[in-house]
Amino acid sequence: MDQLRPGIGETGFVPAMTPAVPGMTPAATSGASAAALSRDEIAAVDMVAATLGGQPFALLTGAGISTDSGIPDYRGPGAPPRNPLTYQEFMREPSLRQRYWARNHVGWSRMHLSKPNAGHFAATELERAGMLSGIVTQNVDRLHEAALASNVVDLHGRFDQVLCMECGNHYSRSFLAIILNELNPGFLEAVAAAGGVSAAPDADADVESEKLISAFNVAKCPLCGGLLKPDFVFFGENVPQDRVLRSFSMVDAAAALVVAGSSLSVLSGLRFVKKAAKDGKPVIIINRGKTRGDSLATVKLELGVSEAMTQLTRSLGL
Ligand SMILES: [Zn+2]
Repeated sequence: MDQLRPGIGETGFVPAMTPAVPGMTPAATSGASAAALSRDEIAAVDMVAATLGGQPFALLTGAGISTDSGIPDYRGPGAPPRNPLTYQEFMREPSLRQRYWARNHVGWSRMHLSKPNAGHFAATELERAGMLSGIVTQNVDRLHEAALASNVVDLHGRFDQVLCMECGNHYSRSFLAIILNELNPGFLEAVAAAGGVSAAPDADADVESEKLISAFNVAKCPLCGGLLKPDFVFFGENVPQDRVLRSFSMVDAAAALVVAGSSLSVLSGLRFVKKAAKDGKPVIIINRGKTRGDSLATVKLELGVSEAMTQLTRSLGL
């Protein structure tokens, strides 16, 4: 039991309930640890383990697996309504791009410090035990990879890369941060000094000061001067087909599908639930609050993801 975690701990494991990023507060977390599950809750997870029957399953994860890493879930219970910028708006309107990059620069400067939590490490432990056909994540935070999982589809892309829409070149977001800091000396400090910064997902952040936003200098592609875009899927943009096909093949190779921490409110994740259900495979959903897949679920666990995933590894005898 827990063979993986001590080793991982040496490389930066953060206990599940520790906000990993200063100023970011875990949203909608229960304050519970795995040990705090009630007897009935443990029995429910034991039943899930029995349903899985030792066969490999596909794991689909959403924002709920990362809330314990201090990254808020904007679709979780109690989250404020948001209107994310669409792909079409981003491509069309320079002033909206300026606003986007100003917010993204603040959001990224915090998000890249996030560390995986017990839920991510439990997923890696399941993978190493041969119990997963693969991990499909709707998150762009790269925390499964940070927890050393190897077979992961980043369905909606990754926050740590940017893409030139003209020449197609990729850059690391850390490299872009150096350029943006040179173009905008003192910006991050001024935002912090102005206060009113609240964290938002997808490396976004609320920046209250319009003056700071309107003065923000946006970077161009260092190679061709083209328009740069974070390498993740915006609203109104399609998920690249190769990622979709790879995800379906993980579901097809699995005997069951486990969804952890997603309300399945976007079709890009829900379609895998529909496929598994259509093929007669058990669908297990671990999520606090309603999901769009509830009617297709064989079992629904209204539990925190870190606690439930950790218990699942135990119930499966790891
Ligand atoms: Zn370019």
